[in-house]
Amino acid sequence: MTDPRTAVAAVVDPEIRVITIDELGILRAVDEDPATGRVVVTITPTYTGCPAMDVIRTDIRRALTVAGHPDAEVRTVYTPAWSTDWISAAGRAKLAAAGIAPPGPRGDGTAVPVTLAVRCPRCGSPETEQVSRFGSTACKALWRCRSCSEPFDHLKAL
Ligand SMILES: [Zn+2]
Repeated sequence: MTDPRTAVAAVVDPEIRVITIDELGILRAVDEDPATGRVVVTITPTYTGCPAMDVIRTDIRRALTVAGHPDAEVRTVYTPAWSTDWISAAGRAKLAAAGIAPPGPRGDGTAVPVTLAVRCPRCGSPETEQVSRFGSTACKALWRCRSCSEPFDHLKAL
């Protein structure tokens, strides 16, 4: 049997592929029920209604079945809400390398749309603009850099 935490942490985000759910901060906990020995995984979506969460739940169950825990349970919790602060340093580096701008910190914690100072992942310029609220997937928005004219995906913040 593979350690359930190791198996779940290796599951990649179905939309971004280069980053694991652990690096993205979606994975909150992997516990074993002391009474039944059943693995319980707790996840928090990056934003409410993200359709990728269904795929993530399926991928987690599949990874745990392969690891020898076919009866695992996946719980989704919405509080505390996912924050971009939960993206690990390694995760941020991978996002930048893939041309995806990680959302900035939300500051005072209120749900303010990230419209300022989204840096271009290619040239680092803050001279960027949102082209469309919907990028290549529902969880991303399409942005364009005014300095190098390159379009890029920006992860939606809450
Ligand atoms: Zn640029």
